[in-house]
Amino acid sequence: MIDTPGLRALRPDADEAAVAATFGDVAALAPHCRFRNCTHREEPGCAVREGVDDDRLRNYHKLLREARRDTMSALERQRQVAMWKARGRAGAARAKAKREPG
Ligand SMILES: [Zn+2]
Repeated sequence: MIDTPGLRALRPDADEAAVAATFGDVAALAPHCRFRNCTHREEPGCAVREGVDDDRLRNYHKLLREARRDTMSALERQRQVAMWKARGRAGAARAKAKREPG
């Protein structure tokens, strides 16, 4: 598998959108769920669980989880880089203050 962090950074929601597009039947049934924020797992009155094959729904959840994990890690990476940069600046400022007291 080829990791493409650059593409993900540009379009962090691309994978999740791709999953939704692949599972059009889930997207079509979702508005009929009893709860608006239904995750189609344990909720009562879930139209997706009723209308979609168990195996297919499991596959949907699996792909969605993977898409979200990748999105999270891309965001985490960006945060971490920003943190390292901030730390680097702070460290340089402290070192400078030591060399030039007053
Ligand atoms: Zn549902």
